[in-house]
Amino acid sequence: MPDTNYDVIVIGSGPGGASAATLLQKRGKNVLLLEKGNLLGGKMISIEKEGYAYDLFPHGQVPMRGNQFEEIFKELGVYDEYQPALEPDDPRDVITLAYRRKDWKDYRVASSKQAMADPSPFFEIFDMQDEVEQAKMLTIMGEIMELTPEDLSAVDNVTMKEWLDARDTPDELYNYMAFHSNVSLAEPVDLVSASEQLIILQQLFLQGGGGQYKGGFGNLTKIMCREFEKNGGTLIKNCKVNKILVENGSTTGVDASEGTFYAPVVVSSAGIQPTILKLVGEEHFDKAYVNYIKQLVPGWAFTSIRYFLDKEVMKTGMYVMWSDDSWLDTERYKKIKQGEMPEEVVLFMCNHSFYDENAAPPGKQVLVSGTVCSADPDAKEIQALYDVMDRQMQETFPEIWAACERREYNGPREIRDLTRDTTMPKTGGECVGAAQIVGQCGKDKPKSDAPVNGLYIAGTDAGGEGMGTHQAALSGTRVANMVEVYLRKLSKF
Ligand SMILES: Cc1cc2nc3c(=O)[nH]c(=O)nc-3n(C[C@H](O)[C@H](O)[C@H](O)COP(=O)(O)OP(=O)(O)OC[C@H]3O[C@@H](n4cnc5c(N)ncnc54)[C@H](O)[C@@H]3O)c2cc1C
Repeated sequence: MPDTNYDVIVIGSGPGGASAATLLQKRGKNVLLLEKGNLLGGKMISIEKEGYAYDLFPHGQVPMRGNQFEEIFKELGVYDEYQPALEPDDPRDVITLAYRRKDWKDYRVASSKQAMADPSPFFEIFDMQDEVEQAKMLTIMGEIMELTPEDLSAVDNVTMKEWLDARDTPDELYNYMAFHSNVSLAEPVDLVSASEQLIILQQLFLQGGGGQYKGGFGNLTKIMCREFEKNGGTLIKNCKVNKILVENGSTTGVDASEGTFYAPVVVSSAGIQPTILKLVGEEHFDKAYVNYIKQLVPGWAFTSIRYFLDKEVMKTGMYVMWSDDSWLDTERYKKIKQGEMPEEVVLFMCNHSFYDENAAPPGKQVLVSGTVCSADPDAKEIQALYDVMDRQMQETFPEIWAACERREYNGPREIRDLTRDTTMPKTGGECVGAAQIVGQCGKDKPKSDAPVNGLYIAGTDAGGEGMGTHQAALSGTRVANMVEVYLRKLSKF
């Protein structure tokens, strides 16, 4: 039986929880990490099955240089195991961009490097030969690269749509940005905070993006959790926390499926709404805070399809596909909900076999493709979106469809079951939590230190910024720093 008394209990082994737990353990705290599932990694999970080893979801890392995992691996002393599949400035073209303008019949296709600062592939797919239009686009890209933290903070409460509308944005660039908000942030352009999207674009241009890791993204959590245990931490899998215990305004521990455990600090990466409303309970907070948590708007989600191919068909590492008609904003999604299905959707496809020779058995290939959707696990339109994706795949990549031995379909319901309980209606399937919606970002982002002593929220709902996995690791690191200060204060009493 594991001990029942700890300095810190961490709920969840996704990038947020794993970062906080492993850093605190490395810094000499006695930490218990509880994971409800059998596998580690949360949504950043990689699995091994029938000779394949791949990520369950299509993931790309932004930024590639100066990523938070890099910092954590350095602190853990395992930097040699931080293994991006490609260097950020790898000279090869590894990303294929496919774009179709409203008035074109066919897609135009171009290839790009991992660092996406070079506009030429975009000029090519946009068929943008007019120097005036090119200059407009370069002005906006230049502005993004030069934004200071203060500039970014000033647009926390502006949507990306508003930001683009306030500039002389060429149509093609607007359409790209609307697509980018869908696939990089899993949000619609008219709801996503401009500061969040601009941070990611700036990192993409300057620090590289779209990268993958040897052994998949999940390998990062496996290494962090291995180091956690090596440094004396206690990890219990298949252990669901049912209640966070609170006495006289302070956390005292958790009630979980495998027992009751005690600690003056509980760090939860189970999501801010599930943590506050369900695990702790409304009665421990004042009404205003409960109302604030309830009204947080969930981010959107992704439906993904995994393709297991009996031969190596795709040569590129990543394939992204959009048209003027296929990206989704709230207006377009409303029509989908009313049963008006689009002809095609945006696609973000990762070819794991390109990045890692062990992702598939020799001569075979595994691809994961996804498109944006609502986070509602019971959303009726998800099946219809799978049908559109299937039809689009058959028409666009007949050779992939023909080589397909098997497919796996995963939507918000599966994401909810894997990671995050539904506490408010139509939530649970979020890709990146409450993180990137306007009014909930930057200075208005939910705080990691909840108003109960010793309770902290780590992960993509609180305390970080940027793309999902990096943001969660950033939040976990910041929470570890806060917990250290809190424990030091406690020890003085
Ligand atoms: C389809 C898809 C595509 C994505 N694409 C990208 C991408 O390209 N790039 C990128 O950076 N990010 C991407 N993301 C987002 C990224 O995966 C998430 O933002 C990140 O994993 C969130 O980390 P987290 O630690 O906050 O939460 P999670 O990863 O959700 O981890 C939470 C953990 O807590 C555990 N847990 C929950 N409740 C309990 C409980 N009561 N008791 C015990 N354990 C519990 C869960 O089982 C889970 O392991 C994508 C996500 C999805 C779903």
